[in-house]
Amino acid sequence: MKFVSTRGQVPPVTSAEAIRQGIAPDGGLYTPDTLPRLTRADLEQMAGQDYPTVATAVLALFLPDYPRADLEKMVAAAYAVPDKFSQSGVTPIRKLRDNQYILELYHGPTCAFKDVALQLLPHLLTKASQLTADSRESVILVATSGDTGKAALEGFKDVPGTKIIVFFPEQGVSAVQRLQMITQEGENTFVVAIKGNFDDAQNGVKQIFTDSAIIAGLAERQMTFSSANSINWGRLAPQIVYYIYGYLELCRRQAIRIGDPINVAVPTGNFGNILAAYIGKQMGLPIRRLICASNTNKVLTDFIRDGHYDRRRQFYTTISPSMDILISSNLERLLYYVSGANSAAVRSWMEELKTSGEYRVDAKTFAKIQADFYGDFADEAETQTTIKDIYQSCGRVVDTHTAVGQAVYQKYLRATGDAAPVLLASTASPFKFNTSVVQAIASPQAVAGRDEFELLEDLAKLAKTDIPLGLRGLEQKPVRHRTVCEPEQLGAVVREILKMRD
Ligand SMILES: *Cc1c(COP(=O)(O)O)cnc(C)c1O
Repeated sequence: MKFVSTRGQVPPVTSAEAIRQGIAPDGGLYTPDTLPRLTRADLEQMAGQDYPTVATAVLALFLPDYPRADLEKMVAAAYAVPDKFSQSGVTPIRKLRDNQYILELYHGPTCAFKDVALQLLPHLLTKASQLTADSRESVILVATSGDTGKAALEGFKDVPGTKIIVFFPEQGVSAVQRLQMITQEGENTFVVAIKGNFDDAQNGVKQIFTDSAIIAGLAERQMTFSSANSINWGRLAPQIVYYIYGYLELCRRQAIRIGDPINVAVPTGNFGNILAAYIGKQMGLPIRRLICASNTNKVLTDFIRDGHYDRRRQFYTTISPSMDILISSNLERLLYYVSGANSAAVRSWMEELKTSGEYRVDAKTFAKIQADFYGDFADEAETQTTIKDIYQSCGRVVDTHTAVGQAVYQKYLRATGDAAPVLLASTASPFKFNTSVVQAIASPQAVAGRDEFELLEDLAKLAKTDIPLGLRGLEQKPVRHRTVCEPEQLGAVVREILKMRD
C-alpha cells in the first residue's frame, strides 16, 4: 500500500511519510492507493476481541511500514483504561431504543471523539520520524472548531521533539471548550484565538503549510511542519477502528449476526469521521447507508442531494459549533475514491472551490455518492427538541452534535423506512456543551445567571452521572494563553512563536 496525494502531483509515499508531512506538498491529502478487504472470516476472528487488539489488527492494515510490535505498544499506551479512557471503555455502545445504538466516542481525556485519534497520533508521529530517519523537530499546526484543539494539545503536551500551535475562533467555541484550551499546560503548547471563524483558521493554517519563506525558516532551525487535523492520515486511520469494533459489538450483543447490514449516522463537519466509516464500508464492513448529518451550515446536505458544492452562503454560529464549517476538507478524499482515483478531476474541483467558491461533480461520481450517502440537516430548534425528547423518552443526555445526528437519523427513517440496526455516532460529552444542553432539557431560565461551573453541576444532576474527570477542576486552572490575532496575522504569529525574524 502506498499513499498518494488526492491531487496527484507528487510521488507516492509510505504511511510514515504521509503522517510526518500531514498534507501533501501539492496541497492534496495523502490517501491509501488501495483499500484492504475485510473478509467475513476476518470479522469472525476479530469478534469478541478487546479494543486494543482490534485496533492493532486494523491499524496494521493501514500502516504497513510500522512494525507490528511497535503498533501494539502504541495502542496499549494510547487506549489505556482508566488512565486515558474512562472506565466505560474506549468506545462503548449503548442501546437507545430498538435497533438504535449509540456509539459513544467521547470517553477520552478531553471528552470528544477526537481523543480516539489524537491520543495515538503523537506516538505515530514520533515513530514516523524514526522510520523516515528524520530528526527535525515537528511543529504541529492545528485549526480547531473547538474539540480538535484541546485533544491535540493533550496528546502532544510535552512530547519530546514536538511543538504544537492551536488556532481557535474566538467567538466560535463553547465556554468549556475555551477554558480547556486557554488553561492548557505543557512547555511546548501555544494557543491563539483568532478573530474569525473555523474556515478562516483552517485556510490560514493551510496557507502557512505551503508558505515557502516560513518553510525555509523552519528548515534552518531543523524544524518541519506537521498537522494534527483530519487532513493527516494519522487522524483517519484510528477512526476506522471504532466502526469495525462497533459492528462487532452489535454482533456480540446479538443485535445482528456477522454479515447483516447496519446503518451508520454521523454528525459531520470536516467529513473526517464519516469518511472513516466510508472506508470501513469500502473494506467490506456491512454498512448499508452512511447518514451524513449537518447543522444549519448544511453545505454537505445540499452537496449530497444535488452534486453541487457551494460554499457561497451565510455562515451560522450554532449550538453545535464543532460542525460550523463550510469547507469540509476530507470530502476531497471521498471525491478521489468515488471519481475512480481521478486526481485531475479532484484538482480542478478544488481549484474551482478556491477561486469561485463552488464546483459540480460529474453524473457518474454523483451517482456513487448517492448510493452510499444520505444527507440531511437539523436546525437549532430541532436539535434542542431532540435533546429533550431523548432525555424524556430514554433518560439519556446527549450533546448538541449527537442530537443533530439523531434528528437526521429520524428523518432518514421516516424518508426510507429502513429500520436496519443503526450505530449513532456520539461525538462529544454533553458536559462540554452544558449551557445548550441544560437549556434544551430544562429551560432558558434554568441557565440564566448560572456560570459554566454551576452548569456542570446542574447537568450532573440531570444526567445522574459525575462530571467527567477531564472537565473537573477547570475553575482552578490558571489561564496560560492570551494571544488574540486577526486571520491575516497567522503567519506572523507562527514566526514569532518559532522566533523567526521576517
Ligand atoms: C469534530 C467534531 C464533529 C465533526 O467531525 P468531522 O470529522 O469534522 O466531520 C462532530 N462533533 C463533534 C463533537 C466534534 O468535535
